Amino acid sequence: MSLDIQEINRVLSQVIHPENGENIIALGMVENIRVEDNNIKFTLSFKKARDPFASSIKKACELAIEQAFPNFQIKGNILELVKETAPKPKAAKPNSDSLSGIKHRIAIASGKGGVGKSTVTSNLAVTLAKLGYKVGLVDADIYGPSMPKMFGVEDAKPFMVEVDGQELIEPVEKYGVKLLSVGFFVKLEDALVWRGPMATNALRQIIQQVNWGELDFLLFDLPPGTGDVHITLSTEFRPDGAIIVGTPQEVALADVIKGIKMFTGQNLNIPILGIVENMAWFTPAELPDNRYYIFGKDGCKKLAEKYDLPLLGQIPIVQSVCEGGDNGEPSSLTNTLIAEKFNEIAQKVVQEFSKFSN
Ligand code: ADP
Repeated sequence: MSLDIQEINRVLSQVIHPENGENIIALGMVENIRVEDNNIKFTLSFKKARDPFASSIKKACELAIEQAFPNFQIKGNILELVKETAPKPKAAKPNSDSLSGIKHRIAIASGKGGVGKSTVTSNLAVTLAKLGYKVGLVDADIYGPSMPKMFGVEDAKPFMVEVDGQELIEPVEKYGVKLLSVGFFVKLEDALVWRGPMATNALRQIIQQVNWGELDFLLFDLPPGTGDVHITLSTEFRPDGAIIVGTPQEVALADVIKGIKMFTGQNLNIPILGIVENMAWFTPAELPDNRYYIFGKDGCKKLAEKYDLPLLGQIPIVQSVCEGGDNGEPSSLTNTLIAEKFNEIAQKVVQEFSKFSN
């Protein structure tokens, strides 16, 4: 079978190195492409030893080739090579774990998208930081990473640091929260390349190979739904507890229940810290005593009672919450009512953890 090398080059140019957003062909990382029988072979050269994105780039290459040339073999045919330009890093400490300084890990999930999961996560993170806790946040919502925008750091480019002989990603710090998001490494339009195993690999790297240091809380903002990413992250990184965000709407509650069952099921067995009911009511500025229950009343509250779970809080629909998300400043930093609501939620989360340790 004959195959044009240019064609292979073109397919591989869809693979992006997440650290600088350039494709691997433009970066000169692909060498010695050849076709032997029905095998496609080439060498992937990395500038540094232990490039944290090496395995996800290799997987992305395999997937791109498999999709473009289904009649050819690629698995096992990519040779990895390190062409160091910088001095060799010192030997890594065996088994040093960048997560070892983290006291509590919290997964934040929602049965479906658009209920305000990221809004709640960003506000909870800055509130815990305001209360004096050391907080980290992983934006694991690979299908719509919104944290860079919600924290006003869309242009941030995290860099690598060497800690005890290990190359780690330095998180971006804003409002006292250490933040990492897939959005820092992948342009939204390239997000399609990051699917399945690649997405999970990229996530592993922005959780594990990170200079988190000492943290009281690390929050994981999970993608909506109950898919592979949830299972993998929850199995590998064992959150100590999960928070489910929902709206009071009847049809949305079924998704909240799915979320509860996923975490508490036998496979994961992760306790639910509680439910946050978002968009609980609307109060117009000119009628401050009126509450309009646009999505229904107390849906999550009743659900929490039924499943004997704590209701961590009810957040009304407030214009500044939406504006804060768009302007990169979570509204709990500027709006007194929202600040109070998130203070309550944060205090309850801390209380729930103190129950675990008693
Ligand atoms: P999810 O992460 O569940 O997909 P987002 O946090 O991105 O949802 O929220 C979806 C939209 O709803 C965003 O535009 C956000 O600003 C807005 N929003 C979320 N919660 C509220 C609220 N309590 N009041 C007003 N707007 C809100």
